[in-house]
Parts: sequence; structure tokens; C-alpha cells
Amino acid sequence: MSSNSSGANQESQNPKGWPSWLPIRSDLASLTPYGAPQMGDVVALNTNENPFPLSEELVNSMLQALGPVLHNLNRYPDRDAALLREKLAAYINTSHGSQITKENIWVANGSNEVIQTLALAFGERKILGFTPSYSVHPLIARVVGSIWVEGKRNPDFTLNLKTALSEISEHKPSLTFITTPNNPTGTLLSLNEVEELAKATALVSGLLIVDEAYEEFSVEPSAVSLIAKYPNLVVVRTMSKAFAFAGARVGYAVANPSVVNACLVTRLPYHLSSQTQAIASVALDHASELLAQVALLTSERELIAAELSRMGYEVVASSSNFLMFKGFKESATKAWEDLVDQGILIRDIGIDGYLRVSVGTPKENQRFLAAIAALRQ
Ligand SMILES: *Cc1c(COP(=O)(O)O)cnc(C)c1O
Repeated sequence: MSSNSSGANQESQNPKGWPSWLPIRSDLASLTPYGAPQMGDVVALNTNENPFPLSEELVNSMLQALGPVLHNLNRYPDRDAALLREKLAAYINTSHGSQITKENIWVANGSNEVIQTLALAFGERKILGFTPSYSVHPLIARVVGSIWVEGKRNPDFTLNLKTALSEISEHKPSLTFITTPNNPTGTLLSLNEVEELAKATALVSGLLIVDEAYEEFSVEPSAVSLIAKYPNLVVVRTMSKAFAFAGARVGYAVANPSVVNACLVTRLPYHLSSQTQAIASVALDHASELLAQVALLTSERELIAAELSRMGYEVVASSSNFLMFKGFKESATKAWEDLVDQGILIRDIGIDGYLRVSVGTPKENQRFLAAIAALRQ
């Protein structure tokens, strides 16, 4: 080392800025962490949360349930979250007329953790997804050391089924991800299309992971009904979006019991805390209350879409609680910055020319519409 070279210069030799002494895996060195910007004191319409806080009554029920749990924090939680899985099975059966049991359910800290547990168990061969879609799928694929294969969509962001089927038979992935309604585009797959993908992935001895994070906002029936016929089909759901429970971190998979048994191997022991299990069980007892705002949010989505179109923006049809749109006077990045200056945070999803806005409360949506109208003039 020459005497005038600073430590900082030494370290900046790595393009991502990792210090040279850090033994980070070489296949991770070029990755960036998942990061939606977090800002205080803004109208946050950037992470597809449900904008309505929990009711006082529900909060009180959770506090009551937490009492005995807190006294027992000296003990590990139920490793298999049996009661919570039973309640999730009952919720799914009530919503979809299915006949699943807790043996069909895996639950973890958000559906992101469910996806990671699945990728750890089944990601030995390639992992395929169809972009643009949820950016965490390729991130998890790479983090678990699998090879990520990027399938393509049509220019209007719908899935090209024929291309998808040939990509599956060409790459023979052990996992294929499909998100419906898709994030960030809001586009939808029919149940028949999901079934075609399930057949194609079975032919290459792979699993089809149907990410249904936004299912409650969609008119299309859940793929849960296909699991009995296609044991290689796994539906991943979350309580973070429609269920207004993002802060609690609860996601789950509905799958054949063999898939769940494999998750038992790759999950961390005692992964889901006693508190989380307790309050999620209370939330499921109040499912209808927590989901009561879904109808309002979907009607607000249609209202925002109509208003944006009327202003001259081009809006992608959405079956979810967000909208992707383009048509900014200057660039999408400039429009995003102008909105932040006005205290409104939406999402730059890195798709050329487009931004994505989550549906907020009617008041928040009006603020967003007023601000975005000004950007067309
Ligand atoms: C938000 C989101 C998730 C993650 O949800 P968590 O349960 O909060 O981890 C998973 N998939 C998609 C497509 C999402 O948009």
C-alpha cells in the first residue's frame, strides 16, 4: 500500500463498495438490498398497504390475547404454529369453498419468508419468473444460490402463455413463479392459464408458485381450488395487503402436505414468535372486519384510474390495490420527485416511463389526484 492512498480509496476498488476484507459471497457482491424509500410525514402510497388502521375494538382484543402470551415469553413459541395454521385453513375454506386442513398450510413472517423457505427447499435447479413482476422473487432466488431465469411478458405486461410454456420446457426450473394479480402491473391470469402452467411445470418435475398477495382485490377465483388436482401447485398468500396487517408480518402458503413437510426442514426453528401467532389468530377471528375495506379500495381504484385517464395519463388495467400509469410531461423520475416535494410518496418501479400508485383512503387519493393533475398542465 502506498503511503498516500487512503483506506477509502482501497475499499472503493469494488464496484458495489464492499470493503475488500469482507468475505461476502461473490455471487451476492453485485446485488442491492430490497428498498422502497421510507419517509416520515408523507402520504405513503408506495408499498400497497391497506391504508385503514385497525379498530380500537380489535386492538383491545389483541391486547387481551397478548397478556398470557407475554407471561410465557420464557418459553419458545409453538414451533409448528398449529392453531394459527388451523385458523388460516378455516379462512381459506370459508373464502373459497375448499376443504384444506392445517397440513396444507405453512405460515411465516410475511410471504417473503414463505418464499425464501420454499426456495431453500426446492431451488436446486433453476428458478423462473416472468418480468416485470415482484422484484423479491429474483432476489431470493439469487440469495439462496439458485440460477434465476428471466421469462418475458407481452409488451402490454400480460403473460404470453405460449412463450411461458416453452420457457418452462426449455429451462426445466424446479420453481416457477407467477404473480396474479401481478405486481407492479396489476394484470391478471385466468384460472385456465394457471392450470396450463401447473401442467407444464409438473412435466419438468417442478413446482408452480402462484403468488396471490393481492387475491382479495381480484375477480378471478383463487388457484387454491387447483391444489387437489395439481400437487405441484403452491399458492402463496399474505395478510399484509388486503388484511391490513403488514406490520405484523404474516404470510402463508397453501399447498400439498409434502410441500409443507419440506418447509419444516428449511424453516428456522421457532421462526414465528408467540406474539405474532397470538395476534394473527385474533385477526383471523375478525377477518370480515379487516377485509371490510376491500370493496371501498377497489371502487377507489376504479375512480383513480378513470381520473388519470381523463387527465391524459395511460393507465394499465389493474385487479389489485394499485395502478401503474405513464404519460408524464417530462420523465417519470421528475414526476416522482415533484410528488415527493408535495408530500406524496408513490413508487418508481424502474419500468421505463411508468410510476405505480397504491390506493389510499379517499382523502389521500384526492390529494394524489390534485397533485398529479398539476403535473399534466
Ligand atoms: C407485498 C408482496 C409480497 C410480500 O408480502 P409480505 O407478506 O409482506 O412479505 C409478496 N408478493 C407480492 C407480489 C407482493 O406484492
